Amino acid sequence: MSKIVIGNWKMNGLKSSVATFRKIVRGYSPERAAKARLALCPPATLLAEFAMLAAEKRCEKNLAKNPENNPENNPSVLLGGQSCHFEPAGSFTGSVSAAMLHDAGASLTLVGHAERRAQGEDDEQINAQLLQALEANLTPVLCVGERQAERAQRQEHLERQLTRALASLPPSLARVSHLIVAYEPVWAIGSGTMPSTAEIEAVCRKIAEQTRSLVPSTTRLEVLYGGSVTPANAAEIVAATDGVLVGSASLEAENLLAIVDAA
Ligand code: PEP
Repeated sequence: MSKIVIGNWKMNGLKSSVATFRKIVRGYSPERAAKARLALCPPATLLAEFAMLAAEKRCEKNLAKNPENNPENNPSVLLGGQSCHFEPAGSFTGSVSAAMLHDAGASLTLVGHAERRAQGEDDEQINAQLLQALEANLTPVLCVGERQAERAQRQEHLERQLTRALASLPPSLARVSHLIVAYEPVWAIGSGTMPSTAEIEAVCRKIAEQTRSLVPSTTRLEVLYGGSVTPANAAEIVAATDGVLVGSASLEAENLLAIVDAA
């Protein structure tokens, strides 16, 4: 399976950022697509427009090659949400549901990002968000990671986060076709520091083992690393994992494409 690079724009991006997204879509050539799948999680306000641009590009490339081709066979940039609400709909002013993300063109969504947990999201809500994502046919990208003070108990901490987030999948969702887990040490996000590659590899392997035992029906599981990934360190990290989740370095088209090149 090819690697995956996911960009997270966080609360950055205005209409003027369409130019950056166009550069990303244009630069994501078939050669790059053969190296790694590329997904971007822009703010929800830009999702539908970006999804349309990605779909247009997919069609253009495809028609140029062979007018008979199905555009779905030509890979383009995937879109994702940054979070979704734990209820399907209702009186939750300011929130975005998983179904809304899907409707706007997302095929995945982050769940449990450290910056959402820091705003008060708890394990129970994260579990409910994950179920909402699956119900809406979005691939959940479950983010887990220890804070600096929890480094000595990292394994127990990660196991607790995974167990709570993946608890009690209803029978209708028992067969989860695709699940992504991102190991993001909180102290590595936006700090310029990170664990050694050997540590990242060992932690991701353990996360894969634990996740498989918690959700044995998952047919496709990918474990990514996130936290201060840049074009300079991406090759080593991607080689040791299934891919990367990238924050600030994903804001510039050149940097994001350079990370795909490193895959
Ligand atoms: C993130 O926010 O998920 C992240 C990894 O950020 P950064 O790459 O900026 O550390």
